[in-house]
Amino acid sequence: MELIVNDNMLSELGKKFMALKSASGTHSPSMLTILEKIPDLKIKVDACFLSNPYATDLFLEYFNNELLKSKKISRVLEFYPSQNSVIADLLGEHLGINPKKIFVCNGAIEAIQAVMHQFVKGKVVINIPTFSSYYEFINKDSEAVFYTLEKENTFILDPEDYISFVRKIKPNSIVIINPNNPDGGYIKYQDLKRIVEELHGIVENIIVDESFIHFAFENSDLELKSIIQLTDEVSNLIIIKSMSKDFGIAGIRAGYAVMDEEKVEQLTSNGYLWNLNGLAEYFFRLYTRPDFRNKYEEIRKKYIIETLIFISELNKIRNIRVYPTKANFVLIEILDGRTAEEITNTLLIKYGIYVRNCSDKKGLKGQFIRLAARSASENDQVLLTFRDLFE
Ligand SMILES: *Cc1c(COP(=O)(O)O)cnc(C)c1O
Repeated sequence: MELIVNDNMLSELGKKFMALKSASGTHSPSMLTILEKIPDLKIKVDACFLSNPYATDLFLEYFNNELLKSKKISRVLEFYPSQNSVIADLLGEHLGINPKKIFVCNGAIEAIQAVMHQFVKGKVVINIPTFSSYYEFINKDSEAVFYTLEKENTFILDPEDYISFVRKIKPNSIVIINPNNPDGGYIKYQDLKRIVEELHGIVENIIVDESFIHFAFENSDLELKSIIQLTDEVSNLIIIKSMSKDFGIAGIRAGYAVMDEEKVEQLTSNGYLWNLNGLAEYFFRLYTRPDFRNKYEEIRKKYIIETLIFISELNKIRNIRVYPTKANFVLIEILDGRTAEEITNTLLIKYGIYVRNCSDKKGLKGQFIRLAARSASENDQVLLTFRDLFE
């Protein structure tokens, strides 16, 4: 395995990277930020960001053919995009959901912020480890109560234990991410349905983030199983969905949330009327088209299959523990005595592989990194490097 830099440069670049990381708070500096601020650092594989790279290629193909070559891009840039409710109508028809229940957002993070600010009042049960925005965005008068997903249970949520915990705490709201980030732990459709049915009468809001649901499946046909239709019967169920990861378009900022009509009305009349940009509108229109969807379905499944192969190879590597996942990433515990920080820096600076150091994640005891699946050839590079580093 070729080393890109010598030891002196290694510590120098390491320091620069650590400075950048601490400036990014609880999120990792993006690949673009790193390239701009530390040009000496050569990133070969971005396995920190959790997206399907084939989906990005598919979007680019449409974007090139339909917007760039035809010059229609000028319309997208020159004119105002549609209002929130116009896109909601499109999505509603496609998803089989009453469009008045759909809040379209500038990335799921906007829906998280809106929901946590406006509807969560009092205690909110959040499972840890988690995506930090859920506890960071709560109101001053709200309180996050953490439900710990145990390492001993491989971070898999036990529905009965969870239900009794929530009954005991009597929170205002609960948050479930399925599959969870950063471990990829998955709650089966029937279990999640049961949790919703047991708890919707005793909490004000059940918030379920399905941003990674396109990577999860329960049968060999790899069909995804969303609980989005339960919002028909359970009016206080809120579904949050990012398009960044499964469609590989984080730069566009597109997501949606499904919630009670009154809540959508409250948000759109409060300033979220024109929150989508022209490219996000183009993406959502594409998303509802059968030709795009059919191609997307093919690459979604291709990517899942490659990810499964990648994970089974990772499982064979000694000195690390790979936790079970139904997302497009794995949580890895380092067992050879080195720290997650050391491994993250070595991977980045010596090998050009960017992974997420999970040392700042609440609820993780031990040394953990999160590694995303990329294209098959990138996965192969990562496997070679991991064998070199750990064996
Ligand atoms: C990345 C992520 C989001 C934010 O997605 P954006 O649409 O890019 O804002 C929300 N929830 C989870 C669980 C995520 O991992």
